[in-house]
Amino acid sequence: MSGSATPTPMMAQYLALKAEAGDCLLFYRMGDFFELFFDDARTAAGVLDIALTSRGEHEGKPVPMCGVPVHAAESYLARLIRAGCRVAIAEQVESPEEARQRGGSKALVARDIVRFVTAGTLTEETLLNPRRANVLAAACEVRGCCGIAWCDISTGRMELEECAPGSLAATLARIGASEIVTPEDWQNAPGEALPRPRSDFGSEEGERRLKAVHGVATLDGFGAFSRAMLAAAGALIAYLDHAGRGKLPLLLPPVLHASTAHMAMDAATRASLEIVEAQGGGRAGSLLAAIDRCVTGAGARLLAEDLSAPLAIAQPIEQRLAFVRWLHGDPLLRADLRGALRALPDIGRALGRIVAERGSPRDLGQIRDGLDQARVIFELLRTRADRPQLLEQLLSSLAGHGALTDVLARALIAAPPTERSSAGFIAEGYDAALDELRQVSGSARRAIAALEARYRDETGTPSLKIKHNGVLGYFIEVPARHADKLMAPDSGFSHRQTMASAVRFNSLTLHEEATRIAEAGGRALAAEEAHFEELVEHVAQRREAIAATAAALARVDVAAGQAERAAEGGWCRPEITAEPCLEIVEGRHPVVEAALAKTGERFVANDCRLGPNDYLWLIGGPNMGGKSTFLRQSALIVLLAQAGGFVPAASARIGLVDRLFSRVGASDNLARGRSTFMVEMVETAVILTQATARSFVILDEVGRGTSTYDGLALAWAVAEAIHENNRCRCLFATHYHELARLAESCPALSLHHVRAREWKGDLVLLHELSEGAADRSYGLAVARLAGVPPEVVTRAKRVLDKLEKGRAETGGLAAGLGELPLFAAAAARVEDQKPDTLRTRLDEIEVDALTPREALDLLYELKREAGTA
Ligand code: ADP
Repeated sequence: MSGSATPTPMMAQYLALKAEAGDCLLFYRMGDFFELFFDDARTAAGVLDIALTSRGEHEGKPVPMCGVPVHAAESYLARLIRAGCRVAIAEQVESPEEARQRGGSKALVARDIVRFVTAGTLTEETLLNPRRANVLAAACEVRGCCGIAWCDISTGRMELEECAPGSLAATLARIGASEIVTPEDWQNAPGEALPRPRSDFGSEEGERRLKAVHGVATLDGFGAFSRAMLAAAGALIAYLDHAGRGKLPLLLPPVLHASTAHMAMDAATRASLEIVEAQGGGRAGSLLAAIDRCVTGAGARLLAEDLSAPLAIAQPIEQRLAFVRWLHGDPLLRADLRGALRALPDIGRALGRIVAERGSPRDLGQIRDGLDQARVIFELLRTRADRPQLLEQLLSSLAGHGALTDVLARALIAAPPTERSSAGFIAEGYDAALDELRQVSGSARRAIAALEARYRDETGTPSLKIKHNGVLGYFIEVPARHADKLMAPDSGFSHRQTMASAVRFNSLTLHEEATRIAEAGGRALAAEEAHFEELVEHVAQRREAIAATAAALARVDVAAGQAERAAEGGWCRPEITAEPCLEIVEGRHPVVEAALAKTGERFVANDCRLGPNDYLWLIGGPNMGGKSTFLRQSALIVLLAQAGGFVPAASARIGLVDRLFSRVGASDNLARGRSTFMVEMVETAVILTQATARSFVILDEVGRGTSTYDGLALAWAVAEAIHENNRCRCLFATHYHELARLAESCPALSLHHVRAREWKGDLVLLHELSEGAADRSYGLAVARLAGVPPEVVTRAKRVLDKLEKGRAETGGLAAGLGELPLFAAAAARVEDQKPDTLRTRLDEIEVDALTPREALDLLYELKREAGTA
């Protein structure tokens, strides 16, 4: 890149490619390096922590540059993608010789963007986490309805679904995509989404694209997809087409995702229950990490999916449970099965690479070994009696690949290489012509070895060697002091190169043998290449059957892993019922229990018994007493059961839950900004509008994030509303003793507390749940436990005595609350009043259609209006 005013041809080429790459970093191939320039170089150097240099000038200024070696590019790509970058790869699409032939000695090698590497379009083994699905999603809105299409191109899975705009965030939270594309002009698009042209999101075009990908005349065989789903699907395929520069990856027939088949959970619930990710980010500390005993990556991915989308229909849950129980009851079979699964390569992902034309001989080998192993597993299971129904359905998918595995077994060597350009992966005996070519090069190589010995003798130079390099090919080398003999005109050697200490020669015989090797080698390579293409075609033709095998094996691994975990922890098979109850005996929190076990502490099991006549539990007791743990373990047990697994309890009877909600009160509104309390209230509002009689809600110290009076008043009203209106199962942890008075007016509400004892001035937390209201808060004892200096605790005690005296005299914070009419009655009275403008506006709001942000803005607006009214 030199510094004239008009850009050099290379700079012009670079700038044109960069314009095409848009806001992706451009990896510009130069020989053995990918180079980055200008801002791209600055960004990449920062992320990768590599040297930022410069090369030539552009418009009078040095051009910042950095580069990564091609052979190590994948690991650098991985880091850039993880840092949120997208990368366009510009390759040299002709050789320097071709360029010279085309445009003379100074011609620039043609380059083109061959692929965009983005978080959602990866297939490379090194760039993917084996135990996590990698999802790309497209979302858009068609006539008030959101369509979502997602796929994991590493395995080809694709699902289409639809939801109300108000549920989009929850749906996307469940899907957990690493990249989302949305129309450029869509105002409700999630913040992290990548805007794409509106024209990509046409439903007719989407239908056409789907039909084309699967070669069908109608989509009816796959499901009844709505306009919104088809529009999203079209955009998804268009984006894949763009990223792969016209090469589409593996896409299996789309599956219709029915939202009623699954338990609904919003993003806040997912985050607070730490299902697949802990709150700090990362897998460690999550429910998934605590229960995952899968021995294959595909199994771990499926388990994460099961936990992210638990079922809400009894029959498929029972099917999964029956399978887990069957394996739970037969430890020997389970051990054999897990041993066999452990030997499985990731055939789903190997298939993904092969179909995306990024496959290697090793991927073919993995398909061969994986399908072979599937056969072994099939045999292991087939002979067993009393097979559960789910297994029966899976079994047929495990076999039937005999013809393909036979071909692959004959064609490939035992451990094929990852580079398709490295020769030798086709096994001997597969192709007679190839074997012969190999023999020719073998015999020529032997001839060259013999030639070396002969020349040493003939010239009397024991240090003579025949060597090979990329520039000269084969040559004869002798130390300089012996060169004279070979220089003689009649020696039969011709001089090629003189080095400082050695001289290099050629000979006619050597040339002939070298030519034999080169020709046979070239033809052998071409033959292997052709076989590779053929084998890829064989595999691609059976893509759906192979994907079904991979999916069946993953399901078997999940069931075996669940059974293993249950056996390890003494877990039980939950009973699923339609009654709105939740009867958990000796329930435990799988994550807290595992954490305690590390320090040798024992987890105290607790019961939970919610039913139609006692569906709301208020739980009091000291801080650190175990309230949150109890709430969460109850929610997690429901989630595990509906995901089709055993649960950490002595017994559990679970009335199917349609929606699960978990809310945690803001603890520190000063440090985290005042809006935290607002968020807490917006989230609580969602529960009050959405929870049905079949829902399960856990509320942890809701109301805590504001002043005592406000907080108590809100907690009171929320508990009452749940009791009177939602009538759903609910565990409500609170430190407001005053709420206990609700028990007087709410028959289905009961009081509970976590027990604690003061012993010789020290507080002992028993983590044991007991009936009745908490007698006191033990706040000062907790403070002492936490190391607050004794004089401060003593002073606090004096203040407390004074406050309590005041409370006794006035009737306390909740004095008179008992006389308030109940929520429903009070709400009815509001209805009687004649409507005002504020009320009319409220009536018009479609709560489900609001994003939390809009809800917040609207609240402010309504408040302003109320203030001026
Ligand atoms: P709270 O919500 O009442 O403040 P937590 O549920 O956060 O209390 O529990 C605090 C700590 O007490 C937990 O981190 C855990 O170490 C311990 N703990 C909670 N429940 C139990 C239990 N059932 N058995 C043993 N230890 C527990």
